[in-house]
Amino acid sequence: MSGSNPVSLYVHVPFCRSICHYCDFRRQIYRRETAQAWLDALEAELKETPRAESLETIYIGGGTPSALEEEELARLFSLLSPWAEHVKEYTMEINPETMRRPLGKLLRDYGINRISAGLQSVSPRLLKLTNRKAGKNETEAMAKMLREYGIDNLSLDLMYSMPDETIDDLSESIDFAVSLSPAHLSLYSLTIEENSVFGKQGVKAQEEDIEADRYEYIVRRLQELGYQQYEISNFAHPGKESIHNVNVWNYHDFIGIGYGAHGKDGDHRYTHADSLRAYLSDPLYRKVTPLTREERMFESLMMGMRLKCGMDRHLFQERFGKDVTEVYPRTIEKERKLGMIALSDDYLFCSDRGYFLLNSVLEEFLEEADL
Ligand code: SF4
Repeated sequence: MSGSNPVSLYVHVPFCRSICHYCDFRRQIYRRETAQAWLDALEAELKETPRAESLETIYIGGGTPSALEEEELARLFSLLSPWAEHVKEYTMEINPETMRRPLGKLLRDYGINRISAGLQSVSPRLLKLTNRKAGKNETEAMAKMLREYGIDNLSLDLMYSMPDETIDDLSESIDFAVSLSPAHLSLYSLTIEENSVFGKQGVKAQEEDIEADRYEYIVRRLQELGYQQYEISNFAHPGKESIHNVNVWNYHDFIGIGYGAHGKDGDHRYTHADSLRAYLSDPLYRKVTPLTREERMFESLMMGMRLKCGMDRHLFQERFGKDVTEVYPRTIEKERKLGMIALSDDYLFCSDRGYFLLNSVLEEFLEEADL
């Protein structure tokens, strides 16, 4: 890890209490013995990972971190305590049905100050279809309990473009989510992954034009409800944007700990062993993918342009010793003339139309990058 300057730490918890039908993440059903062995492996990995003074955020994701039992979570949090001393944002993912008072106490005692919870939909029909366990009651109870323990920085995930979903399903889900006053909302369209239950059943998501209409609706509706879009799929009250994710989109280095996590360290990316069994027997194994300078320049642009404010030109210059206009002169000129992108002194960013068609804008850059 020499020469790196990671600002974020991601820890992946690969356990869930049930499996959602759209999911192909690295996860498996929780079992106590496996969780114990996983914690041992995680401890070994953390011991060998140099602690970064520059760390601003910790994000415990999964899987479902709250699928772990109290004593396992207490061990995980105490392993992370030395890393957490100076972080500004400490997030954990929760599924609402796993919220309980002892967990609230643990979160408060260990300084977890932001919760990202999966709601996805309030439609009982869609929850059943996707095998999600929490609806309105569980999510409302979770939000209330978190606030009792002083955790007010809540993000809710919703999903759209699910099979048979109507615009009323989506609007009801958004209105319910907003009624809980979360500081942040993430809305992702359903992707059918080959290895998910849906993929194996041959389930189809909505047509692309319906998906695009839903997206337009979401952007408009959330703006009316006081949420600012700051990334393609993310909306927040002013000042409540996810610091962790913004760091990733700004292409900063981050440490990834645990099976299923990946990290970025200067000129390479890494993942861990590709099965939990392999991770348990060698938690220090890292599969490294080197990145050329051209790849890093393109990735930096691709990630930065996801942000509504755009890609930070100063960061780009600092990293690569060149202004972005020197690297992609043809595309910048062409897309500016088409009204898809614009430049300020600080940012290269998309127009409203360009933002909506971001993938095609990025394809033009990729062509010029000639990777
Ligand atoms: S979507 Fe989340 S909760 Fe559902 S199975 Fe996948 S990791 Fe687990």
